[in-house]
Amino acid sequence: MMQVIQAIDQIRQLVRQWRQSGETVGFVPTMGNLHQGHLSLVKEAQHRADRVIVSIFVNPTQFGPKEDFSNYPRTEREDQEKLGQLQVDVVFLPDKDEVYFPDATTKINVAGLSDNYCGASRAGHFSGVATVVCKLFNIVKPDLAVFGQKDFQQLRVIQRMVRDLNIPVTIAAMPTFRESDGLAMSSRNSYLTPEQRVAAPALYLSLVAAKTAILSNDFEYSQIEQQQINSLMQNGFHPEYFAICRSLDLQPATNTDTDLVILTAAKLGETRLIDNIEFSKKS
Ligand code: AMP
Repeated sequence: MMQVIQAIDQIRQLVRQWRQSGETVGFVPTMGNLHQGHLSLVKEAQHRADRVIVSIFVNPTQFGPKEDFSNYPRTEREDQEKLGQLQVDVVFLPDKDEVYFPDATTKINVAGLSDNYCGASRAGHFSGVATVVCKLFNIVKPDLAVFGQKDFQQLRVIQRMVRDLNIPVTIAAMPTFRESDGLAMSSRNSYLTPEQRVAAPALYLSLVAAKTAILSNDFEYSQIEQQQINSLMQNGFHPEYFAICRSLDLQPATNTDTDLVILTAAKLGETRLIDNIEFSKKS
């Protein structure tokens, strides 16, 4: 039976019991409104660990003042049903007043990696993410935590934090789960109007087109970026960035780099969508 737990102490006690009987613990942090992308992370955690905890916490500190914290889709009942069907051990629903001390002053800043791309337009976002993930790791103490490549910059920020701070957890990454037309699954897709939903897959198609150009030996990266920004605008998007990067450290890629990721964010109306594609130039 899946347990629904809110109290931090109760999580700690349960994990201590599991540990004492030699069981490993997998952890999937989420903000809820679960879709198949989230569930693929949960299944991976179940495959790799004896026990699995999924947290659902819409983290206030990673939203900017003009962002969608209060409107973010909250679907607790459906989420619990999905996790129950997968027979996860625990759904952890921490209370924000227990997570955050009102006079807390400690924050994690993964400098450099957090500054560009999504970090440039969302000031403080990655610090909010890194801080809450670190806190959740300290509460749950998992052996393994699973993240999605959908949020590629977030994944790199967390991997760097875990390395830099010697946090004893293995980070696993799962590929982006997509709708059949290529649109990356996201809780924010529910904000799209029917017309915008039809236009939305153009974001992924722009990544595929840039990847194809690079693999057919087009070395003019800034030109490729500009072409795709233009094409997104023609499709009704307001692009924020479209960047060909080195996969490992997200620095702008040069022609000699082989392991690449293309990151993009664009608005369709009021809805901000992000996507990326990772690939290697090595044959
Ligand atoms: P969120 O609830 O959106 O904060 O996401 C929780 C976790 O699910 C993060 O590790 C995300 O990267 C991951 N995730 C979100 N969407 C997808 C997707 N379409 N495919 C794979 N993982 C995803």
